[in-house]
Amino acid sequence: MDLEIAGRKAIICAASKGSGRACAMSLGREGVELVINSRTAADLEATAEEIRKDSGAKVTTVACNITTAEGQAMVLKACPDPDILVNNAGGPPPGDFRDWDRDVWIAAVDANMLTPIFLIKATIDGMIERKFGRIVNITSSTVKSPIDVLGLSNGARAGLTGFVAGLARKTVQHNVTINGLLPGPFDTDRLRTNLRKAADRVGATYDEMYAKRAADNPAKRVGDPYEFGETCAFLCGKHAGFINGQNLVMDGGSFNSTM
Ligand code: NAP
Repeated sequence: MDLEIAGRKAIICAASKGSGRACAMSLGREGVELVINSRTAADLEATAEEIRKDSGAKVTTVACNITTAEGQAMVLKACPDPDILVNNAGGPPPGDFRDWDRDVWIAAVDANMLTPIFLIKATIDGMIERKFGRIVNITSSTVKSPIDVLGLSNGARAGLTGFVAGLARKTVQHNVTINGLLPGPFDTDRLRTNLRKAADRVGATYDEMYAKRAADNPAKRVGDPYEFGETCAFLCGKHAGFINGQNLVMDGGSFNSTM
């Protein structure tokens, strides 16, 4: 299926690894011109080179912390008029809310709520003028189904989700959609790090924890980032213009509900 977005421009945040990288790979294969970002320049450049080799896409790298105003300005300078914006950043750490002071909360809200909102603010009017825009916020299945130790993530991402729910209803008449993609367990560095920590906590091996995580899922496996990237690309495609204000959980059906 041709998504009919070849030649469009995209910003993909936090894209040297994991889900962000997969979204960039898939959009690159659709002929989209990419600006990708992450903090570690060497990893980012290596990913850019892989994408260029894979699809021949034009890829510009901006090594910076996207959760800072300076980082956001650098990315926007490299691509002031994107047609596609994929918001992403590292997730906040797990813990007990009794240990989180104001600074910890502000960091989580900055990274997982305000950063996407400010990037949307900087780019959405241009999308509206050009009558095409696709914004995908990578959040988490915890937005719909909270995990107690991930309170920072549950809270900050729910704030973003609530805000864009209202905005999306105003922009879709201009063919500018905003949707959330909510990953459950995907086989990325973040999942592997979390599984290693969980294994240490309960005295199990990493392989045992990985097998348990897979077995606990209705699909009997964890997600492949490729699946995530292709879904993101579909939401960014021309034909997805009537999908708006949705929060698509990609978790193999773990979240148990009828709808
Ligand atoms: P990942 O494999 O650890 O990759 C994270 C990427 O983000 C890396 O490229 C990293 O590069 C970049 N990054 C992190 N913080 C950044 C920052 N402040 N500025 C710019 N780039 C930054 O993670 P992932 O699994 O793809 O997760 C992506 C998002 O989905 C996270 O918010 C995560 O919490 C959420 N999520 C993931 C899962 C899962 O199972 N994988 C489940 C639920 C939710 P640098 O470190 O070099 O910056």
